[in-house]
Amino acid sequence: MLTVTPLPAFDDNYIWALHDARDAVLVDPGVAEPCIEFLERHGLELFAILVTHHHGDHVGGLAALAARCHPRIYGPRQESIPGITDAVADGDVIALARFGLQVRVIGTPGHTLGHVAYYDGSRLFCGDTLFACGCGRLFEGTPAMMSESLSKLAQLPDDTEIFCAHEYTISNIRFARTVDGENAALLEREKREQARRAAGLPTLPSTLALEKATNPFLRCREPALIVAAEAGLKRRPANAVEVFAALRQAKDAF
Ligand code: ZN
Ligand code: FE
Repeated sequence: MLTVTPLPAFDDNYIWALHDARDAVLVDPGVAEPCIEFLERHGLELFAILVTHHHGDHVGGLAALAARCHPRIYGPRQESIPGITDAVADGDVIALARFGLQVRVIGTPGHTLGHVAYYDGSRLFCGDTLFACGCGRLFEGTPAMMSESLSKLAQLPDDTEIFCAHEYTISNIRFARTVDGENAALLEREKREQARRAAGLPTLPSTLALEKATNPFLRCREPALIVAAEAGLKRRPANAVEVFAALRQAKDAF
């Protein structure tokens, strides 16, 4: 039985650990200590690491984990990340044989230019691309790139579980309400996620169906969000990319 456990790191990162009773895979270990502590406590052997992009809060633990556990380390070919043993790109398939999993690499540029996500047929590890009720900042890419990346992810099955790298959900919902305030699913989600946080629980994983219903950045063709974008642009947006760009800009200033 495969389990996915969040290892909290820094202020709001989650390092995801996929594991059974013997073996483990980590996603985006920004720091090694909580990972080592987890592996030791459960007697797990770390055989692979998946890296979504080059930012320090996602790769900071690689060197120490490599020295100690010698895992294969998969990461985006388009970014220079010390310690990567297997450079991957959009369309590649990674066999995690110990788990009987085939993991598809999905190129998701926008937050960074080489950013990739990993999809195992039911779970999506999407780093800083798709967040619960939000999306990553455009540090390197363009709105068109990020919008295209999110559209690709939105084509996965509705029951796909979304494991993103940060607990930003409550503040993302607060922003979403300013642009999609009449959305009943969003208001209902806010109550549910607030209750989870009040109980000290993560709001993740989410599902793609829930994101499509509540995440403004996946709803750029909905009338309410077109109207919100128009208010920011002070003109009618020409297409969904312009809606996305206006929403992302509003979120940056929020
Ligand atoms: Zn990042
Ligand atoms: Fe990050």
